[in-house]
Amino acid sequence: MMKVGITGGIGSGKSTVCRLFAQRGIAVYDSDREAKRLMAEDPSLRAGITARFGVEAYAEGVLNRSYLAGRVFSDPQALADLNALVHPAVVADFAAWAERQSGPYVVLESAILFEAGLEHAVDRTVAVLAPLELRLSRTCRRDGCDEEAVRRRMAAQMDDDTLRDRADYAVVNIFEADLEPTVAELDRRFTLESRQRS
Ligand code: ATP
Repeated sequence: MMKVGITGGIGSGKSTVCRLFAQRGIAVYDSDREAKRLMAEDPSLRAGITARFGVEAYAEGVLNRSYLAGRVFSDPQALADLNALVHPAVVADFAAWAERQSGPYVVLESAILFEAGLEHAVDRTVAVLAPLELRLSRTCRRDGCDEEAVRRRMAAQMDDDTLRDRADYAVVNIFEADLEPTVAELDRRFTLESRQRS
């Protein structure tokens, strides 16, 4: 199964782009959501997290998010250790999920495709890009505004120039009306490529 990874910074519109792929019948794996599910449910991931962060990581069997967040917040090594446990679990789960899907290819959505090394789990990469001020206003409109907090999160992410360099395709998401034809064109291309592979 051919795999396409879609990434982009906060408010870039990657979820919107993924929704358009889904509307065209393409199965989409939301790696953020699945990572949370795996941390809560996957037995070997739970065991790894407990071994590294202690039994407090699960309060009465339920993932203790605030405890874990506190442990990794200002400790880069702890964060790296958590990522080293979670990311491979996501890669394995995604690969197994992809084999169960039908259709010409599947899409993986991740805000941290390159940072998490998920690019190696896909055959093609797409970066969704938009000017910073536009991303800021979209995010504020959607979530209510703490502009400084959003700016801080943006500053911690990969910048658009780097994303553009690293991704195979860039989708510039400024005008809503442009998005659907752009996704349609990518869909045609990926469908063709997947046929050529098989
Ligand atoms: P995050 O990483 O914060 O989840 P995201 O990259 O997934 O963000 P979306 O949730 O797709 O971004 O988009 C952010 C907001 O901007 C949403 O409310 C969405 O409806 C809106 N939006 C996205 N693209 C456009 C566009 N081209 N025109 C107008 N609004 C848009």
